[in-house]
Amino acid sequence: MKVLKRFTINYASLADGEHLFEYQVDNKFLKHFETALVQEANIAVQLSMLKFMNSLELNFKINGSVLVPCDVCIEEFDLEIVGQERIAMKIVNEIPPNNDEYNIIYLEESSSSVNIAEMLYELIMLSIPMKKVHPLDENGQATCDASILQYLENSGEAIKRDKRETENNISPVWDELKKLK
Ligand SMILES: [Zn+2]
Repeated sequence: MKVLKRFTINYASLADGEHLFEYQVDNKFLKHFETALVQEANIAVQLSMLKFMNSLELNFKINGSVLVPCDVCIEEFDLEIVGQERIAMKIVNEIPPNNDEYNIIYLEESSSSVNIAEMLYELIMLSIPMKKVHPLDENGQATCDASILQYLENSGEAIKRDKRETENNISPVWDELKKLK
């Protein structure tokens, strides 16, 4: 677990105020998570941690790409992803029994560090849109593999998923999940 160790933050040793952390996430990181939807990624992570007397506020920003097969032409491509998340951590005497509040994590007074790998992993997974399609070029044309598109067309599998639909449906899972809360 050496790779994940670098995601442990020893907050107790930090002064009150803002602390900035930067990470680069790649395939090695994803290997630690069996449920990973993708195996290849290259993502820059910026984390701002605000430390107060009895709490911490973590603001994550991610920006990078994941390797996914295109929904239309099945060729793999680097899909750009961006995401952000705010997580509050409360330092308490005793962890309350109902501690499943959204985006709030309780830390016991006796602990001094927290590992953010899991949070980061979840943010990355939630930032991958449902619909994964090659981006359009500057002329608004699909950049899918032309020979595969031709093949699909010829074999009668008319591509109903035309450009318009593709554009409209690119809505990150994240937005959907937020609505449920
Ligand atoms: Zn494609």
